[in-house]
Amino acid sequence: MVRKGVSLQESAVAMRSSRGKRAGLYALAVLVLLSGCKRDEGPAPSAAPVVITTKSGVEMVLIPGGSFEMGSAKGAPDETPAHQVSVGPFWMDRYEVVQEEFRKYQLPDPSHFKGPRHPLEQINWTDAALYCNERSLAEGLEPCYDDQTWACNFDAGGYRLPTEAEWEYACRAGTKTAYGFGDSPSRLKAHAWYADNSSGTTHPVGEKKPNAWGLYDMHGNVAEWCNDRYAEDYYSSMGVGTPSAKQGVGDPVPPMNTGKMPVLREAQDPKGPVEGQERVLRGGAWNSSAESCRSAYRASSPSIDDTCLADDAIGFRCVRNAPRPGPESPKREISHVGHLMRRRRLALVPRASARITRGQNEDGTPNADAACSDAVRRSFQGSYGHTTSAAGLDYLAADGGGTMESKPKAKTGLVYDDIYLQHKTTPGHPEAPQRLTAIMQRLKGSPAATRSLAQPAATAWPAAGTGGLYSGLTLLEPRVAPLKWLCTIHTPAYVERARSACEKGGGYLDSPDVPVSAGSYEAAVKAVGGVLAAVDAVMRGEVRNAFCAIRPPGHHAMEDRAMGFCIFNNVAIGVRYVQQEYGLSRVLIVDWDVHHGNGTQAAFYEDPNVLYFSVHQCPFYPGTGAEAEKGRGKGLKYTINVPLPGGAKDADYLNAFEQELRPAALAFAPQFVFISAGFDAHEHDTLGGMRVTAAGFGKLSRVVKRIAEECCAGRLVSVLEGGYGLEGLAASVEVHIRVLMD
Ligand SMILES: [Zn+2]
Repeated sequence: MVRKGVSLQESAVAMRSSRGKRAGLYALAVLVLLSGCKRDEGPAPSAAPVVITTKSGVEMVLIPGGSFEMGSAKGAPDETPAHQVSVGPFWMDRYEVVQEEFRKYQLPDPSHFKGPRHPLEQINWTDAALYCNERSLAEGLEPCYDDQTWACNFDAGGYRLPTEAEWEYACRAGTKTAYGFGDSPSRLKAHAWYADNSSGTTHPVGEKKPNAWGLYDMHGNVAEWCNDRYAEDYYSSMGVGTPSAKQGVGDPVPPMNTGKMPVLREAQDPKGPVEGQERVLRGGAWNSSAESCRSAYRASSPSIDDTCLADDAIGFRCVRNAPRPGPESPKREISHVGHLMRRRRLALVPRASARITRGQNEDGTPNADAACSDAVRRSFQGSYGHTTSAAGLDYLAADGGGTMESKPKAKTGLVYDDIYLQHKTTPGHPEAPQRLTAIMQRLKGSPAATRSLAQPAATAWPAAGTGGLYSGLTLLEPRVAPLKWLCTIHTPAYVERARSACEKGGGYLDSPDVPVSAGSYEAAVKAVGGVLAAVDAVMRGEVRNAFCAIRPPGHHAMEDRAMGFCIFNNVAIGVRYVQQEYGLSRVLIVDWDVHHGNGTQAAFYEDPNVLYFSVHQCPFYPGTGAEAEKGRGKGLKYTINVPLPGGAKDADYLNAFEQELRPAALAFAPQFVFISAGFDAHEHDTLGGMRVTAAGFGKLSRVVKRIAEECCAGRLVSVLEGGYGLEGLAASVEVHIRVLMD
C-alpha cells in the first residue's frame, strides 16, 4: 500500500534537454502515487511514510493534510496560546538540505562544518529561498519566490520553505507531546543531534531516528528556516475564535475563555505576519538545549543580509505543494522556462573569495577569508531567549549607519555579590574590597564614595535603588563554581591548597602579594561562579552581554599557583565552561589589563580554539607577554601580545585594537568573547604607568563589542581584573558598562 523510494531521478543534463517532457512524467508519477494513497484512504499518521526521490535526487516525504494543535499552552510566551490549525498536503524534504545537494547547482558551500552529507549551514533566509528557486528551475517547476521582493507565490508548483505551521505539523507527526516521540527529553539523544551529544558539530543527516512520518533531524542538527516572518505575539495578537465564527481581519477579538480551543482567524494554512524583519527558525540545532529542540519552540533571525552569512547552526529543508484531494490540481510545471531568467544568483556568492570558511587554514593559521559579519541576532546556543533582540545592530546605530527600527532588547547583566567583600587583603593592599564598593556606588549613582582607600572599610553595597545605571541592568547572582570547572584550568591539589590556606584565616597563598582571609575561598569560587552565571545568562538570551564585578581577579593565576592578587583564573575557567557546557569551540579573550595575563596565556598557549589577545605595559609585571610569544604547536598564532611602553595613551591602545585585534578576531570568527577587563591602565591608576582615560576604555569597549556583534550575535562577558585608583576605576567601569548597554 505504501510506495517507498519511487525513483524519478534524472540527471541535470537530461533535464535541461527536455525539461517539459520529463517534468510531465514527474507530475504523472506523483499523481499515480497519490491516487494509490487515495485508494487506501490517505496515509495514516502512524503508517510508513510515502517517500519519493525527485528528479534532482532528493528524497521527499508526503505529509498528509490535516489539523493539529499548534503551539504550546505551557511554553514560552511566543508559543501561546495553543490553537487549532489546518494545513493542506505537501511534500517535505526527508532530510535537511545537504552540502553535496547544494553544490549540484554550482553554488559555493558556505558551511562551517564540511561534509557531503552534512547539513548545509551558515545560510541566510534569502539564499535558502533562492536555492528553492534554483531547484525548481532545474526540475522545470515554477519558482515560488520573486527574486526581487522575496514574496512567495504559494500557488506556484515549485519548491519553497515550509510555513511555520507546516513545519510544526510535520515535526509533530500526529503527536501533541513536547517532542515527536513524547514528553521526556531523556529520549532526545536517539532522535537528535543537540548540545548534549553533538560534540560541538553538525553530523551527516539521517543518522538519528526519524519521526513517525519518516522525517529526520527535525529536533536537531541544524535549525531550519521557515517561510514565515516572525513576531513574538503572532499567536496571541491574531485573535481567537472558533472555526465556525464568521470573522474577518479587523473584527473584534472574541474572548478566549469559551472553553474551546482558541483558533486563529487564519486557521487554514496560516502564513505568518505580513511584515517583519525576521524570519522564523524551527527545530533544534547541534548546540541547542533540549528545551529548544521541542516541537513548538520558536526562534527567529533577520532574513536578508547580503554581506553576511548566517550562523553555523542554521540550515533548512524544502517543501512543495502536493495535489489536494478532489478535482485534479492544475498543472503547475512551467512551459516556458526560457522566460524565467536567473536574474540573480545566490547572494552568498562571495565578493572577494570563492569560499568563506571559518576558523583556520589547514596549516593552522587564522583564515583571512573567514572574516565574518553574520548578523544573526539569535542563535542556537542553550535555552536562548524568545525576544527579538536587535542587539546586533546597535553599533550601527551608534555610528549613525543603521536604519533598522529599534526593538525591545535584553539588558546587560551585572554580576555582583557582597561575598566578594569578604576576600580581605592586608592593610594598604591595592586589591581591596573598596574597589568593588566604589564601582557599585558609582553604578548606583553615588560617585562621592569613590575617593580613596583611606575611607572607612568597605561595607555591603547599599540596597538597590533607582539611581545610576543600576536600574538598567539585570543583576546576576553568582553561584559556587563546582570543583569540576575549577579543575578545567587548575590542578585538584592546588584548589585544595587554596581552600586550606584560606581556612586558616590569614597569611598568604603561594606569594606575599596574594594575602587571603577566611572568606577568600568562598569569594574566589563565587568569582568563578559569577562568570559561569554570566555565561549562562548570555547563552540563554536572558541578557545581551554581562559585566562581572568580582574579585579576586584571575588572569595571573596559573594551573597550580596563585600570583599577582589572583587565586583562580576566572576568565580561563569561563572559556572552558562555555566550550564544554554549550558546545562552542572558538573563543576570543581580549585582555586590556595593564599587566600581561600570564596565567591565561599559559592555559591556552597550544590551543587553536582560543585566541588570546593582550595589550599591556612592557617592561612590567609579570615579565611575560613579549610580541614573540605567539603560541606553540597547533596554538601557534593564537596568542597575540601587543606590549606597549609606559605612558601609552588612548590612541595607542585604539590603534592596537583596530590594527591588530580587529582583523585577527574577524578572521578567527569567535563564537563567544570574553574581556579580561582590568582598568589599571587608567591615567590615574596607582599601579599602572599608562595614560588611558575612562573615555578611552569606552572606545576599546566598543571595538570589542562590535567584534562580538559581527561574529557571534553579541555574546560577550566582561570580567573585572585590575584597576586600583578607585575614582578612575569606577569611572572607567561606568563608561564600559554604558557601551555594553548601548
Ligand atoms: Zn593588572
